[in-house]
Amino acid sequence: MHELSLARSILEVARRYRPPGARVRAVHLQAGPLQAIDAQAMQWAWQAVCEAQDPEDSGWAESRLQIEWLPWPLHCRDCDQRWTSSQLEDRCRCGSTRVAPAGGDALQVMSLDVDLQVTVHSPVEDFA
Ligand SMILES: [Zn+2]
Repeated sequence: MHELSLARSILEVARRYRPPGARVRAVHLQAGPLQAIDAQAMQWAWQAVCEAQDPEDSGWAESRLQIEWLPWPLHCRDCDQRWTSSQLEDRCRCGSTRVAPAGGDALQVMSLDVDLQVTVHSPVEDFA
């Protein structure tokens, strides 16, 4: 199942951008249609990967994946027009059906929603 290895890669990227000590609420992703990601399998994989993290590193336990599904970037071989469509089987405005995908394999971590919690181990002086 390729969702599991994707989830590991996404976590590696997200980890680099997480502020130290922050709890991650959501990881926002953009995914192109060529990635052929199964939405349900992806959520399951994300949960599995997060639960497998070191319990000391609890910042991922409540995180969710928010996936923005990108449309197909299409290209007309007859008139060179480019556009995006939710479906691969699309017809060009010129009437041509000689339409091919031009990419669509993007997979990017766009942003993280985090709760910052700063751990302080410091006695408070009694000023009374
Ligand atoms: Zn065309």
